[in-house]
Amino acid sequence: MWLKIMKIEDCIADFQIPQYLHYMDSAATSLIPEQVIASMNEYDRQYRANVGRGMHRLTRVATQRYQDAHDSISDFIGGKGGITVYTKNTTEAINMVAAGLDWQPGDRIVTTIVEHHSNLLPWFRLRQKGVDITVVYPGEDGIFEIAAFDEAITANTRLVAVSHVSNVLGTVQPVKEIAAICKERGAYFLIDGAQSVPHFSVDAQQIECDFLCFSGHKMLGPTGTGVLWMRDTVDAVISPLIIGGGTVDDVTTDGYILTSGYQRFEGGTPNISGAIGLALAVKYLENLGMDTICRHEHKLTERLLAGLAEIDHVKIHGPENLKNRIGVVSFTIDKIHPHEIAFLLDEKAAILVRSGDHCCIPLMKYLGLEHGTVRASLYLYNTLEEIDLLIETIEEIARMV
Ligand code: PMP
Repeated sequence: MWLKIMKIEDCIADFQIPQYLHYMDSAATSLIPEQVIASMNEYDRQYRANVGRGMHRLTRVATQRYQDAHDSISDFIGGKGGITVYTKNTTEAINMVAAGLDWQPGDRIVTTIVEHHSNLLPWFRLRQKGVDITVVYPGEDGIFEIAAFDEAITANTRLVAVSHVSNVLGTVQPVKEIAAICKERGAYFLIDGAQSVPHFSVDAQQIECDFLCFSGHKMLGPTGTGVLWMRDTVDAVISPLIIGGGTVDDVTTDGYILTSGYQRFEGGTPNISGAIGLALAVKYLENLGMDTICRHEHKLTERLLAGLAEIDHVKIHGPENLKNRIGVVSFTIDKIHPHEIAFLLDEKAAILVRSGDHCCIPLMKYLGLEHGTVRASLYLYNTLEEIDLLIETIEEIARMV
């Protein structure tokens, strides 16, 4: 599939949801461009076959494209030399690590209070195996002091699991500094990149993390796609969650020898069209340029934060300026339930945002937000006109207080 070089203003036409809708829920799931849909249709219509199995012409084409798709993803995240495994989503990727390490009683895991349930529950479950969990807390704006990690990560810390960007507060965490502490103390470092990889350039090798997990459906790809990237050195450390067809080099009635590379971790027939679609989504993002996307989102976020700050009864949760944050903006309005606000934004202006706890109940408890927040999450297809409409409509709702 061929992509022409585009300007960010021109890409809106590629996202064919009804024109009157203003989609601001990309942190949950992004829209998908026509080119990605076409690449998946092309597989299903023109070269549909299983991968890594057999010698006929279609399986050879499908296998090559499927491998190329892994390479595209790996290049996108600076992951050459590591293993890039397709998963269903971020949640599955994190669970694969939690289930795949050989935990010992007394091992420690360090994580934070801002995590999504998907980056908490898999670790909490390991308490059954005698693993201790330490939770690190940020300031009220969601920014962490690196000293908090320095104190929490000790010699018996086996793994540190941190989200690169909070899906509630939009804050960017100091992953490079955390990685350096992990390296020094001999702990694995897992980054939940669900909200970072779609929005700015993330280089796994440069950060020096051990695992990077993210979701394809939040970055213009199809639902049911995600990625677990691992440094090559941990290949033997994680045992695969699922084994069977495609994961072995040899089998006897007494046992089996697992194969190496991503195939070891992708048991059974994978989501082939999804993988091809996600690879095209990555090409689409690269074509626009991650720096261009990031700048565009910053412009939108700046306007939104400035607009919200002017409205009585509105409180922003997270940093009120652009430093260390992206276009995930949570807010509340005094005395109005977040679900009601989200409903009114849709009713009055066809603005689609998320409301509630955002799968971060411990964070909501920490922030004392019983009903959660309203969250507008922006992406490359949003415009300044849409931000103005959002601000005007919030103003109108806040006048009801
Ligand atoms: N981590 C973070 C930070 C997220 O924002 C999300 C999705 N909201 C997830 C994990 C889980 O992603 P998925 O549902 O695609 O597994």
